[in-house]
Amino acid sequence: MKDTKISIVRGDITQRAVDAIVNAANSSLLGGGGVDGAIHRAAGPELLAECRTLGGARTGEAKLTRAYNIRQAKFIIHTVGPVYGQHGGREPELLARCYTASLKLGAEHGCRSIAFPSISTGAYGYPVAEASRVALAAIGHFVAEHPGVYELIELVTFSERDERAYQTALRERSGAPPRSGPA
Ligand code: ADP
Repeated sequence: MKDTKISIVRGDITQRAVDAIVNAANSSLLGGGGVDGAIHRAAGPELLAECRTLGGARTGEAKLTRAYNIRQAKFIIHTVGPVYGQHGGREPELLARCYTASLKLGAEHGCRSIAFPSISTGAYGYPVAEASRVALAAIGHFVAEHPGVYELIELVTFSERDERAYQTALRERSGAPPRSGPA
């Protein structure tokens, strides 16, 4: 069985060639700013039409649509991250659920590769150092429980700072010593 590759990349998630792109949506699932706006712009108006049929989603839930004009992907998985400071301390659990629910839904639809944005760390205010640890822990647990289901899980960061945070979190999990030298 092939190992799952977990890869941190920097760039625009709408350009990733993967079976499923994950969207950090809001509970209406009807579009918004940030990565949600970028995904709707790239996928086109048919995406909004399908989203209207979904009836929204709760924090930590995930729902799947087609990817329309994002032709190099098959599906978009819309998940609603927690707003930092608004869930009485349940933020890590809810954020972890976004990753787990998205991975599960993608697997149910035969996806072998999936790309995540940094859920909740934009408008929803989750500090990226914490969020990246939660993300990698949730992904790590899923992969341990479902070995070989995914070939590739990408974490797509938008800024250099976010990319560094995810790389640090990945190194922490793999037990490697922190990189020395200038920050
Ligand atoms: P949330 O409301 O869950 O916080 P945001 O869309 O505001 O979601 O931000 C989530 C992350 O997505 C932020 O780090 C933001 O910089 C990043 N982002 C914005 N546009 C894109 C894009 N096109 N591709 C990848 N990441 C993006």
